[in-house]
Amino acid sequence: MRDCIFCKIVKKEIPADIVYEDDEIAVFKDINPAAPVHLLLIPRKHIETFFDLDREDASIMGRLQLAAVRAAREAGVFESGFRLVSNCGRGAGQLVMHIHYHLLAGRPFEWPPG
Ligand code: AMP
Ligand code: ZN
Repeated sequence: MRDCIFCKIVKKEIPADIVYEDDEIAVFKDINPAAPVHLLLIPRKHIETFFDLDREDASIMGRLQLAAVRAAREAGVFESGFRLVSNCGRGAGQLVMHIHYHLLAGRPFEWPPG
């Protein structure tokens, strides 16, 4: 989609520190990290929010979760753990309207989140 910053990243129209990509997903470093490890996991397909998911998108979402586990292992946070979060909708803090998970690790996390 035009004017979507994450679509531009997967199309290489703007730079990003991409750590993994395949035919369906991409994983790259958050430009403004909120933890020592802060990756964003996105589908190549432009889907705005969880509310816009179709049944056919289930496998992509599963691949994002598996990619998160692989990235966490590669980052060496298997023991300490990680937080996988997605802000759905403006009220929940979603700024980029292209569905994504945040993978956060490398520091303690509070619960409930703010
Ligand atoms: P959210 O508020 O859940 O929509 O998260 C959007 C995230 O995208 C924020 O953590 C931003 O720091 C991150 N972000 C925005 N632009 C870029 C970019 N060009 N490259 C990497 N991360 C970005
Ligand atoms: Zn997009």
